[in-house]
Amino acid sequence: MNILENVPMSRHTSFKVGGYARYFVKAESVNDIKDAIAFANEHALSSFVFGKGTNLLVSDSGFNGVIIQLGKFFSEITNIGNGKIRAKGATPLARLARYSINEGLAGIHKLAGIPGSLGGAIYMNAGAYGQDISQTCIEVESIDAAGNLHKRAAKDCNFGYRHSVFQELAASRGSAERAETILAATFQLTPAKSIGKTAKDLEAEMQECMTKRRNSQPLSMPNAGSTFKRLDAGAAATPTQIAPGYYIEQAGLKGFRIGGAEVSRVHANFIVNAGGATAANIKALSEHVQKVVAEKFNIQLKREIILLGDF
Ligand SMILES: Cc1cc2nc3c(=O)[nH]c(=O)nc-3n(C[C@H](O)[C@H](O)[C@H](O)COP(=O)(O)OP(=O)(O)OC[C@H]3O[C@@H](n4cnc5c(N)ncnc54)[C@H](O)[C@@H]3O)c2cc1C
Repeated sequence: MNILENVPMSRHTSFKVGGYARYFVKAESVNDIKDAIAFANEHALSSFVFGKGTNLLVSDSGFNGVIIQLGKFFSEITNIGNGKIRAKGATPLARLARYSINEGLAGIHKLAGIPGSLGGAIYMNAGAYGQDISQTCIEVESIDAAGNLHKRAAKDCNFGYRHSVFQELAASRGSAERAETILAATFQLTPAKSIGKTAKDLEAEMQECMTKRRNSQPLSMPNAGSTFKRLDAGAAATPTQIAPGYYIEQAGLKGFRIGGAEVSRVHANFIVNAGGATAANIKALSEHVQKVVAEKFNIQLKREIILLGDF
């Protein structure tokens, strides 16, 4: 196990903010994960597994524990036949989506624009344009803090909207320590042919989603995707009103800034690092947005972005 000290998390998160990880391990084997957890336990420190840091806000004071990121060994996709694909935890979701298109398999091809890893996507039950990762996932492999391997059928992953059992396990172990590390997942996809489509059609659908993203998201500025979760359908009168961005915009908050953090002028549900933002700025801005939207519309926005460290 190669353990680094004092690694700036601003280099590992899409917000490009955050302090130092006291220890940082790039795991290149299952044993590396076990060793990193053992090291954390020996030193009475917490451990935290992350993927590509695209849904993560790390405190300016960093994380006084062991941060684990899955390395190249965990970036691998295998077509196991009959429409089934298995991918390891560090596989970029974009790569997985493109792989599925090349194999002529439908079901995850619209996820190509989500910049995270497979592990992060399972943890968050990431989704876009009508495809949530849980819709096609049939099995998730993970390892717990005691080094036991688990294989869970999708029905045991408690998938819900941006929710999985892995969030429940993490919450039950305290604010930061991860109860389980997602090692791999298997998907049952649909052969394009069987639904009267070709790989080219899937590619075109994927490209259409990418264009929508480019036209609606502030992709030139550091951000972590949607700040808040969509509202329950019951809380909203129209489909537009399910989107937190609708209320944030109606509240006149587009462009509102705290320090270097800004409510995106392109997409109100994105907070961007407009230059020199701190994690504290971003958190304060998200809380300000929650407060104003609650006051004006009596709606409680729930944060989608994961916070790590002391705020
Ligand atoms: C421009 C942009 C667009 C986005 N668009 C979308 C979108 O359309 N839909 C959507 O759902 N999300 C979107 N996101 C958010 C983000 O990309 C997803 O939530 C993604 O799934 C996070 O993956 P990650 O690897 O970056 O996870 P991280 O941010 O690294 O981690 C997120 C959480 O997952 C946990 N985690 C990560 N890997 C593992 C693992 N191997 N084992 C256990 N736990 C793990 C971490 O502990 C953390 O709690 C967007 C983000 C950006 C920046």
